[in-house]
Amino acid sequence: MVETVNSSETGSRAADPIAPEPSADHLNLMALVQQLEDQQKMIGALQVKLHHMEEKAANLDNRVFQMRALLQSGKGFSQILELHSLLEAFMEVCRERYSAINSSVLLLDDLDPESVYYRVRAYCGLPDTFTDKQSVEEEMFMFKIPHNQGLLWQLIHQGDVFAVRDMRKLPRFESAFNRWNLSVLQSDVWVPLLRGSDVLGVLTLGECEDGSQIPETDYAFLEEIAAVAATVIDSTLKYEKNGRILNNLRTLYDVNQQLANVNDFRKLMIETLASAVEALKAQKANLMLYNHQTERLEIKAVWGNIPPETLKAINEGILDTKSFAVGEGVSGMAAKIRHPIRINDRAKIEQVSRNTVHCILAAPIMWGTDVEGVITLTNKVKKDENGNTIIDPLSRFGEDDEQLLVSLADNAASNLNKARLYDASITDRLTKLSNSRHFEVRFGNMVTDAIAEESSLCLGILDIDHFKKFNDKYGHKAGDFVLEKTAALLRQAVRENRQDECFRYGGEEFCIVLPHTPIEEATELLIDLRKKISATTYTWNSTELSASVSIGLACSTDFSHPVSLFEAADKALYVSKDAGRNCVSHAKTSDDIVTLDLPED
Ligand code: GH3
Ligand code: MG
Ligand code: MG
Repeated sequence: MVETVNSSETGSRAADPIAPEPSADHLNLMALVQQLEDQQKMIGALQVKLHHMEEKAANLDNRVFQMRALLQSGKGFSQILELHSLLEAFMEVCRERYSAINSSVLLLDDLDPESVYYRVRAYCGLPDTFTDKQSVEEEMFMFKIPHNQGLLWQLIHQGDVFAVRDMRKLPRFESAFNRWNLSVLQSDVWVPLLRGSDVLGVLTLGECEDGSQIPETDYAFLEEIAAVAATVIDSTLKYEKNGRILNNLRTLYDVNQQLANVNDFRKLMIETLASAVEALKAQKANLMLYNHQTERLEIKAVWGNIPPETLKAINEGILDTKSFAVGEGVSGMAAKIRHPIRINDRAKIEQVSRNTVHCILAAPIMWGTDVEGVITLTNKVKKDENGNTIIDPLSRFGEDDEQLLVSLADNAASNLNKARLYDASITDRLTKLSNSRHFEVRFGNMVTDAIAEESSLCLGILDIDHFKKFNDKYGHKAGDFVLEKTAALLRQAVRENRQDECFRYGGEEFCIVLPHTPIEEATELLIDLRKKISATTYTWNSTELSASVSIGLACSTDFSHPVSLFEAADKALYVSKDAGRNCVSHAKTSDDIVTLDLPED
């Protein structure tokens, strides 16, 4: 039985003839182990799958969170119409998400087409000042980098977020860092703000609070939020610009309305400047007129932050100010090139006074092709937190400011011309005194005022003695010459700050009106004037000439109507003629007229 070999059981067992036959239990166990191993593999594979799914879910969650943040910030941004608040909100959203220690937004500054910059418009976590390359301490808002063709700008134009410092915190754009002092911004990451292909600006972010850098995986989120912010920044800038244009149009309309019936050019000049200063938020303004005789520009009106006494004295024409040659300074240059000049770079403005000029805008006043003057505005102002007006060194004169000033200058030119025509219509050409037409209006108003104020106004009427004979003897030209000289003496007799006015009433007749003057004072003044006229000699073509006048005087305290006052003074003049000429007579009533002085001889 031992030798018996079951042919069917040859094979493996044949090699181990003594191995026991595996039991059924054993076989079951083996199958179970195999099953277990398979299941474990499956579980492992499932775990990997689960892990992947968890990761996916987390990413999705993060994405949902980011989208919500984007949506919310987008909604929030679009409700802010004021640029500064918008930039603050934008920076806050980005900083909060990465706990970045600082941030800044630089925006395009293309007010001067020949020097385009990106300038800090908002910042956080950075010092308020920085030291520029000339070792001058400047406000952070003055920090700017020029737009150019370099690598840094190529990256910005691509619109992708990028790190400006590597893991060791060393600048990745060393030459740009050195050239533009970029370490001032203390930034790690730059986020371009694009609107189509235009670069509106850049958001810079510093390192995170724990010293780490914003992970590259988050750049996509920054790019998306920057796109939202850029859209809103763009519309806010446009909104602000439209607001300014609207405001400018309103100013022009108001100035036209206000000045439509004003013939006094001095008033026109002042109102024009006041409107320009207010509309363009300028610190001060001046208006120069071109003097065709001296060929220089003379300051005729000023407005804005100027000591009140100086402002009043210049605007009333009492204080003579500096004059400028055409081509001298920014105003002179605007007159020379007959084109507005706008300089917004402080370094390019010659600083002549103690007060720094940060920006300047000058527009020539043109009448046809002639330069009649220049309007110049300096510096922009803003309100501080207490409502005080302070210089805003960051604000600049823009293109719309220039357009408004040019329109105001055009207005000033036509007003100037209108006022000149009006002046010509009320001015005597020979003596340059106001004529009888103007006298009728002025005298009526002055008497009415004096009566209303119960103050004493005196009128003197002067007539050159024997002027017909004078003309016959020396000729009409010599007569004209004496008329001019007599008018000059009358003008000299006018007292400073007393509102006296003198007129050429007719051929060789003059009037002098003395408001707020008692009769005694007027008598003294007119006697002095009479004496001065008769004592003055003139040389005309080697001939000695002289003239005398007879004067009639009356006072508003005795005659309460302009016509009766004039008639009384006229009557007094005839009394002076009758008394022998070269004397002054006073009409107390129309019948009581006394001659006050007669020459000794
Ligand atoms: P009386 O002392 O009485 O005033 O004598 P009169 O000769 O001055 O007075 P009359 O009214 O007879 O003559 C005024 C003269 O004044 C006549 C005129 O030739 C002269 N006259 C008026 N306007 C002008 C002017 O613009 N230029 C010159 N040269 N003479 C003038
Ligand atoms: Mg006369
Ligand atoms: Mg006369």
